Amino acid sequence: MITIKSPREVEIMAAAGGIVAETLHLVARHTRPGISTEELDTIAEDFIRSHPGALPSFKGLYDFPKSLCTSINQEVVHGIPSPKRVLKEGDILSVDCGVSLEGLHADSAVTVPVGEVADDVRRLLEVTQAALEAGIAQAHVGNHVGDIGHAVQRVAEAAGCSVVRELVGHGIGTSFHEEPQVPNYGKPKRGPRLTRGMTIAIEPMINLGRPEIRTLEDKWTVVTRDGEWSAHFEHTVMVDEGGARILTLLPAGVRE
Ligand code: MG
Ligand code: MG
Repeated sequence: MITIKSPREVEIMAAAGGIVAETLHLVARHTRPGISTEELDTIAEDFIRSHPGALPSFKGLYDFPKSLCTSINQEVVHGIPSPKRVLKEGDILSVDCGVSLEGLHADSAVTVPVGEVADDVRRLLEVTQAALEAGIAQAHVGNHVGDIGHAVQRVAEAAGCSVVRELVGHGIGTSFHEEPQVPNYGKPKRGPRLTRGMTIAIEPMINLGRPEIRTLEDKWTVVTRDGEWSAHFEHTVMVDEGGARILTLLPAGVRE
């Protein structure tokens, strides 16, 4: 069932989303060669819990053990923070974060370069971010879920990158994952119709090589089958007339 959120629920989700955005901003500022993903997770969890009532959505979700997903290079998503995973110059780190407030969730992800990265990798990040923006631009009343996926796919594939198929965006609200599924590929005017007050997480996972993925023996970390690198950007948005409202933006007054 696709749920429509009340204006009050949307404001709570935007407040949760502001904490998500600030957490990602903080983690990005600490991302540098020599830091472990465990240290970044601790920074994130402490910051989230410093806000009254705010909880890290991921901790315990399907028994995931940490507050962030941290996925390095050929890891696509769902990497588990660990003291053994130390970043080095030239890596990329995808950081995925969810926060709940008064029982409502927000979800966002960014991929951060660690120092200087190769030109094709920098381009992968730009393409994935552009694909997310193209998807968000379609998230308005009158369109369908397929319009979002089509826009994401077109940007990614025009740049010679590929779209992960097995993992998709999702509705979000009182549950972290709700209907509808929001694939990063598709055909215009297909899939559920977008209506005002729907809240969805749009999250392209884009690969430099082929689209196929597999899951490692830790049962969480998803990697590309061909070992080429992958990027992930995500926002939670509310569908509205004439455009989407992004709920996971940095609050006004927080320095970029
Ligand atoms: Mg996410
Ligand atoms: Mg998500």
